[in-house]
Amino acid sequence: SDDQWETISAWIYGFGLSSLFIVSTVFHTISWKKRHLRTVEHCLHMFDRMVIYFFIAASYAPWLNLRELGPWASHMRWIIWIMASVGTVYVFFFHERYKLVELVCYVIMGFFPAVVILSMPNRDGLPELVAGGLSYCLGMVFFKSDGRIPFAHAIWHLFVAIGAGIHYYAIWRYLYRPSTLEAKKPR
Ligand SMILES: [Zn+2]
Repeated sequence: SDDQWETISAWIYGFGLSSLFIVSTVFHTISWKKRHLRTVEHCLHMFDRMVIYFFIAASYAPWLNLRELGPWASHMRWIIWIMASVGTVYVFFFHERYKLVELVCYVIMGFFPAVVILSMPNRDGLPELVAGGLSYCLGMVFFKSDGRIPFAHAIWHLFVAIGAGIHYYAIWRYLYRPSTLEAKKPR
């Protein structure tokens, strides 16, 4: 990182990315062991679902914070955190009650912030962003195919790992690598 916004964005993204995989790993380990109370498993499952909202916000944060945006689009920098918080509150009250609504919320949260691209003068890295997003979307097909396709849930996680890997690479290459310095927004 060369300035404070790069440092902050790197911390946000790193924290979101690590939290997602740590919480998911802990949840799956505990539900696999089956030795724990159901309430522990239930809480971790809820936490797992909440983290996804913050992970989506964290994945967008470096792009929103470090790229030049139009006057309206720049509001997305804080709107994503409001959306993540609303999603978290929703999970707290209605966890697993309306599964389709939950999925629709994730899809909206995943796609809506992308409208800021329309106002971005610099669109480097867009193909990688789309590729990562597609990986998550393709993974959702398997996420919804539990019991119908063998190892569906494991395949879903594989797509998540690929999507996160592509986005990580794009953030490193287009927002942090020194050669892109001149393309950065002067703050
Ligand atoms: Zn899982």
